Amino acid sequence: MRKVAIYGKGGIGKSTTQQNTAAAMAHFYDKKVFIHGCDPKADSTRLILGGKPQETLMDVLREQGAQKVTNDKVIRDGFLGIKCVESGGPEPGVGCAGRGVITAIDLMEANGAYTEDLDFVFFDVLGDVVCGGFAMPIRDGKAEEVYIVASGEMMAIYAANNICKGLVKYAKQSGVRLGGIICNSRKVDREREFLEEFTAAIGTQMIHFVPRDNIVQKAEFNKKTVVEYDETENQAKEYGELARKIIENKNFVIPKPLSMDELEAMVVKYGIAD
Ligand code: ADP
Ligand code: MG
Repeated sequence: MRKVAIYGKGGIGKSTTQQNTAAAMAHFYDKKVFIHGCDPKADSTRLILGGKPQETLMDVLREQGAQKVTNDKVIRDGFLGIKCVESGGPEPGVGCAGRGVITAIDLMEANGAYTEDLDFVFFDVLGDVVCGGFAMPIRDGKAEEVYIVASGEMMAIYAANNICKGLVKYAKQSGVRLGGIICNSRKVDREREFLEEFTAAIGTQMIHFVPRDNIVQKAEFNKKTVVEYDETENQAKEYGELARKIIENKNFVIPKPLSMDELEAMVVKYGIAD
C-alpha cells in the first residue's frame, strides 16, 4: 500500500485532479484506492460518490461520540469500489480544523480502515498550510509520498515552494518524500517551461502536465469524474497518464526549496504577473 498526500494552493484543482486520477487508476489499471478527504469543506470525494452528500467523520464524532465512528458508518464505496471518507471539520468559526484532521486520521488508523489490500490511500489536504494539523499527513509518516498540484501562476508556485519548505522540515523524522509536481494548467504563457525549470531547480520532476479542459466541468456538473463520464475523452487519457506515472514513479526526493530571491528572479524571467 502506498500512502500519498496531495497538497497545493486552494482552488488549484487538488480534489478534481485527485479524484480523476483515482478513477483512472481504478478504471485503467485495476487499482484499489481509498480517498481520505482532509478539507473541512468535505468536497474531496463527491465526484467518486456521484454527488451524494457524505456524513463526515467529525459530524459523527461530535453528534454520536467516538464509539459510533465505525468504518461502515463513515466510509462509502464509490465508482469502481473506491473507498471514500471525509474528515469534515469543526463548526465554522469554532475549534481548530487542523486538529480535526489529526483526529480523523488517528481514528481511521485505530479502526484499521487502511487495509493491506489497498494499492493507494490518498490524503487530499486543505490549501497551502503546512502547519499544525494540516501537516499531520506528512509529519508522522501517515503519508510517505507527496504530490503538489501547481500551475504557472505566481501564487501557485509560491505555495508549492512553501509546501516544500514544510516537507523539508518533516522529511528526516517521518521519511516523507516529494514524488513530483503536477501541473494543472491555467493556460499561462510558457507554463510548461516555467514548471520544468522550477521543478528542476528544487530537485524534483513535473510528473505530468494536465491540460485545462471544459470536459472537467461538464463531468463535474454530472457529478462524475471524466473517466466515468466519458472514458474516450482526451482528458480521461491525460488522467490515465498521470495515474500510470504515479504508479510507476521512482523519483522520490527531499526537495530543495528556492529562496525568495531565486523564486522572484524566476518569476521575472517568465514575466509572470498574477
Ligand atoms: P482544490 O481542491 O485545490 O481547492 P478543486 O479541485 O476544487 O480545487 O478545483 C477547483 C475547480 O477547478 C473545480 O471546480 C474544477 O471544475 C476546476 N478544474 C480543476 N482542474 C481543471 C482542469 N484541468 N480543467 C478544467 N477545470 C478544472
Ligand atoms: Mg479541494
